[in-house]
Amino acid sequence: MKHIITFALLIITSAVAYANIDFDQYFCDSTLRIDYVFEGVAKSDDCEVSVRALHKSPTWAGRRVNLDRLPVEGNGQLVMTDAASGDTIYMASFSSLFQEWMVETDTVARRAFENTFQVPMPRRNAYVDIKLMNNRRNVMARTRHLVNPSDILIKKQCSTPLPHKYIHRGADDKNCIDVVILAEGYTQDEMEEFYQHAQYAVESIFAHEPFGTNRDKFNFIAVASPSRDSGVSIPRLGEWRSTAFGSNFSTFYADRYLTTSNVWSVHDALVGIPYEHIIILANTEEYGGGGIYNSYTLTTAKHPTFDVVVVHEFGHSFGALADEYFYEGGVLVDTYPLDIEPWEQNITTRVDFNSKWADMMPKDVPVPTSPDDADRYAVGLYEGGGYLVRGVYRPADECRMRNNVTPAFCPVCQRAIQRMIDFHLK
Ligand SMILES: [Zn+2]
Repeated sequence: MKHIITFALLIITSAVAYANIDFDQYFCDSTLRIDYVFEGVAKSDDCEVSVRALHKSPTWAGRRVNLDRLPVEGNGQLVMTDAASGDTIYMASFSSLFQEWMVETDTVARRAFENTFQVPMPRRNAYVDIKLMNNRRNVMARTRHLVNPSDILIKKQCSTPLPHKYIHRGADDKNCIDVVILAEGYTQDEMEEFYQHAQYAVESIFAHEPFGTNRDKFNFIAVASPSRDSGVSIPRLGEWRSTAFGSNFSTFYADRYLTTSNVWSVHDALVGIPYEHIIILANTEEYGGGGIYNSYTLTTAKHPTFDVVVVHEFGHSFGALADEYFYEGGVLVDTYPLDIEPWEQNITTRVDFNSKWADMMPKDVPVPTSPDDADRYAVGLYEGGGYLVRGVYRPADECRMRNNVTPAFCPVCQRAIQRMIDFHLK
């Protein structure tokens, strides 16, 4: 009897949690862009989220299904609730450079980082809540603000779009996942080369499953955002350039980590163009890149490994996947505490393995699985991942999320990406 009651409660709970929000009932076909400042002190829970500006633009390119759900937990969440009824009407999860900085650097000074989220424009007053989690998945900052859709100070974005062209159109281009590819460090005279690089990036993504079989569900739009200088900034060589998004290598002093802190300028360059996900190509032969879930992928277009690195980084920014590689030397050791199950689908500390790929494990697979048996076990529990040699496990010995020589995502990453594609469209 107890089980029956529990089961009944579960059904009621899930019915309350997911109301199948009707897009047109709550939202206009337009976009509200909200710029935030995340700021705080590294290695602490002292952090804050502040609103910087609100913008609106015609048409909404984001999802119209699963509005009140999250595909994964993320390092942070945005929740919009209808002010009158209190109903949850939109949710999104994300990660941020700010949170990486909080966990992994020893900088004492207080620092501020730009972040931007696009949400559908509500028809009526709505609250937006932002919460940021620490590496133990506990909330460390939250803020709530009211959005009044008729507020005259929401800035209308109506400038002429930058030159752009569709590299690839999905089958029903009105109902696709829109990915923009921006140029960073390309001068006006180098735009033809940029379009070729963008084309190559798209071919590389579609050469990986499950993107290949889902090609009809994506639009890829290359945007010719010009820079004054050619190339990007490389601090370790003392080279600084004036570029569209002011990106640089050596983020947090990691030489190959290429990011931009000018997130608002990235979104400014996209006014008038429909987009949900962002890839930025840097015009350099240096090796490196970065990918932040639901923020952007940034990678270098002239390095010989461009074709696979762009897919790896897109695995972070679109697929919400973790790095499956690890360092013998103990770098980034605080990202994944071993007594906490990470939320990413492709690594586990085995604290809650059933929430990961336990259902995909062959019955007789030894745990931990030896890399010597990698040919026998396409899926197992291989020790090492999430930057740590011990205590974090990956699903396969090799994967696009581990190295540049493997030709494919492992089966668990493929499933995670497929789930993300379905979440956007089904
Ligand atoms: Zn994988």
